[in-house]
Amino acid sequence: MTHPLQSDLALYATGDLPLWRRPVIRLHVSGCDSCRSWVEAFGADRESLRGLAAEMPAEVNWDRLAAEMSANVRVGLEAGECVAPRVRRPVLAAGWRVAAAFGSQNRRPLESLRLI
Ligand SMILES: [Zn+2]
Repeated sequence: MTHPLQSDLALYATGDLPLWRRPVIRLHVSGCDSCRSWVEAFGADRESLRGLAAEMPAEVNWDRLAAEMSANVRVGLEAGECVAPRVRRPVLAAGWRVAAAFGSQNRRPLESLRLI
């Protein structure tokens, strides 16, 4: 039996799965004990997190906290680059395809293009 992705089950459990995908997941979950237990676990986790969130202090600046977390992730990624550089896909090939597609649709002279 092929099971849905856990990410789809999590989205289904929270009601965030797109409407057109819900019936397929609902049908599968109704007949699969394993996936049904995942959906129930995701639902229980969500309720648990709601309880924890309610205990958070109201004066927390969530925007600042989110910015700090993003900055920490960026610092961590940069630190990781110092240890072992990530393998990067060559972007030149895709860049040329985009440039070629753009060039074929936009035939204005380069002088008329303005960069902001
Ligand atoms: Zn299943």
